[in-house]
Order: sequence, then structure tokens, then C-alpha cells
Amino acid sequence: MITLEECRKCDQSDSLASKKALFNLPEGVIYLDGNSLGAQPKSVVPRMQTVLSQEWATGLVKSWNDANWVTLPLTVGQKIAPLIGAVPESVIATDSTSLNVFKCVAAACALNKGRRKILSEPGNFPTDLYMLDGLEAFMQGDLEVVIKPREELLDAIDEETACVLLTHVHYISAEMWDMKAMTAAAHEKGALMVWDLSHSTGAVPLSLDDCEVDFALGCGYKYLNGGPGAPAFAYINKRHLGSVKQPLSGWFSHKRPFDFVDDFEGAPDIRVMQVGTPVVSAMALLDEALSLWEDVDLKTLREKSLDLTDLFSRLMDDQLTGYGFTAVTPRNRSTRGSHITYRHPDGYAIIQALIDRGVIGDFRAPDHLRFGVTPLYVGYEDIYQAVMILKDIMSTQSYKQDKYTVKNAVT
Ligand SMILES: *Cc1c(COP(=O)(O)O)cnc(C)c1O
Repeated sequence: MITLEECRKCDQSDSLASKKALFNLPEGVIYLDGNSLGAQPKSVVPRMQTVLSQEWATGLVKSWNDANWVTLPLTVGQKIAPLIGAVPESVIATDSTSLNVFKCVAAACALNKGRRKILSEPGNFPTDLYMLDGLEAFMQGDLEVVIKPREELLDAIDEETACVLLTHVHYISAEMWDMKAMTAAAHEKGALMVWDLSHSTGAVPLSLDDCEVDFALGCGYKYLNGGPGAPAFAYINKRHLGSVKQPLSGWFSHKRPFDFVDDFEGAPDIRVMQVGTPVVSAMALLDEALSLWEDVDLKTLREKSLDLTDLFSRLMDDQLTGYGFTAVTPRNRSTRGSHITYRHPDGYAIIQALIDRGVIGDFRAPDHLRFGVTPLYVGYEDIYQAVMILKDIMSTQSYKQDKYTVKNAVT
């Protein structure tokens, strides 16, 4: 049996423990949902104040130049680059993850002319599949979306496959693809590889350039703590920069937006992934939140993340065997990301009861309880206390109250 004392010892020798003080977290809350909405870094509050009262109120339109608003998407991209193993010029912060799925996949198909299939897997994050459906319908027969389960994916890549779109760490199971092997398998058949890194960025070390990934995109509001609806990012491998075309060619994708010419000429660099005017306030929040990562060693972060999810599953074995939970997340450390998921027929009510007791996880239909581990502000004792509160809820059956079955719009 793992004891509270052991967990406290781990916290004492945790080199990332001091990072928690850099976040605004309410007293008495154990926050296990940073994989859905990252916690608020304290420094974003004064930064927002500066944007509002100095840059906007006083600087007005001059701030596009003077406060470097116009280059923020590139600056933010450069801060994300080391987290994903990319050269700085390959990354830009722009739009939403959904939009970047569309732009990256469309751009990959345009680069791989003559091939008409886009391959993905069932159970991928819904927006990824919906955006592919939208692209397919818009292309009126020129592109076809092919959905194959994991076991059949490799065999399904053929000489008609333009690109493969996969999510690196699965949003429910946390199962993680071998990025290098999968990318190489796509390339071997002449297909391009597009990775959705929403549940990977800031959670697991990544090496996109080394894996020769073609395109990638990911979220700014999950492990990167950019705030609700923060800008997403897009990555283009440097060997493709200059030849990429994406269909949402707005004036910010233009080579020289301020020439105001009629004819579109795409930027020969990562700016081609932009569409229109960047959302400066949100971009500034993400920029500020990313400064937290400057001295974070990703290997240390990854080890702590795996230790915390291991601890969670061992405590579940110790304390909650026989209560009807089924583990979903792989036990193997090399094939999982930074959250841990269980199934339970009363999953929704149990999550609501946990939230009521200050343990914030989330529910994913139809019966998944999901707990995210964010090593910058979650510690070992937090995991211990969370599991003990869960045990209390289960043993007293307090989750069976009617109020816990009322469905919220956002779960
Ligand atoms: C969170 C998430 C998204 C979210 O897309 P938005 O456009 O920000 O709503 C997309 N894909 C994956 C895999 C995600 O986990």
C-alpha cells in the first residue's frame, strides 16, 4: 500500500514543485483538468493589464508596430518551437486547432498532388474528423476521407494516400503513437504526415524535425496554459516552407499584406498559415504563459508526469478495486501521454461528486472519467488526496444524489 508519507517525500524531492507558486489556483482545489484548460499563470494578469491600459488605450494603432503586435504570432511560435522539437521558423501561433487541422491537411493534399485519399482513425478527436468531412464535401469528389482502425492503418496507406492525420496522444485513452515509426511508414508509401499535438505539447517531449514530420498543429489552452480559447499553433517542416499553399488565403497569409494588392501571393514562410488579423489580447496571454517554460527540462517533466500517472493507477489498485472502475490508459510508460482514464457506468455522477469535493477532473462520453496530470502544478500528495476522496465518494455512495446527474453543457 502506498502511504501519504511516501507521497510527501516525493514532493520534497521534486525539482518542479516550486513551479506551482507561479499559478493562481484556488485554495482546496486539486486540479486534474489541465489537459482541458490549463491553470492561470500569475504573470498573465499584469501582462493583460499592460495590453489593455498601455498598448491599446495609450498606444492605439501604433502598437501594431511599437508593441510588436504584428509579429506576436511568430514570437509565440518561436517559444513553442523548443517544446515540440522544431526550428523556430517552422512554428506560428494562429487561429484554432480545428482551423489548423483544415489548413494543414489541405496544404498536405496540395503538396501531394495526384493522390486523393486522407487517412485517419475512428475515435480521433471529433473536430479532426468533422474538419476532414467538411474538406471532403467541399472538394466534391476530388478528395476522399478513409477511416481505418489502428490495427489496419499501416496497411491502408497506399499510393493514393495524400496524407495521414493522427492525434499523437489520444484525448480519451492517452495512448501515444510512435511518432517516428508512423511518420516513416507514411513516407515510405509517399504519403505526408500531419500530427495533432493537442494532448502532447507541454506534456511529452517531442522531436518533430527529427521525426521528419510534415505538418503539425496543437492547442494553446491545454498544457500551455494560454487561457480559454487561446490561439492554437501550426508547424510546417522547413523542407516544405516556400512551397506550401493553404486554401484560407487571407491577407495575413500574403507575402506583403500591407501592399494591398489585388493578387494573392502567399508568404514563402510560416506566415502562410495565418488567415486574418491575429487576436492580440489572446496572443499576449499565450506569449506570457509560455515564459514559464524557459527553464523547464522536458525530460524531468516527462518523468514526473509518468510517475504521477503511475501513482494514480497504483493507488486505484490499492484503494478502489471492486468499485467497478476499468482502466483504459496503457500501463506501459512509453505508450501513454499525461492523463489517465477509467470507465465506470456512473462516470458522469462520480465526476460531479468529485468536483463538489474540490477534485476537478472531467467526463468524456459515454462513460469515461479523465484525470490530467500537469507536472508544473500537480504534486504527489495531490494525487493521493484525490484518490482518497474518490474512495470516500464510492464507499459512501455520495455520488448517487440526484444533483450529480444533471447534465451540464460542457462536461
Ligand atoms: C482539444 C482538442 C482540439 C480542440 O480544437 P479547438 O479548435 O480548439 O476547439 C482538437 N483536437 C484535439 C485532438 C484536441 O484534443
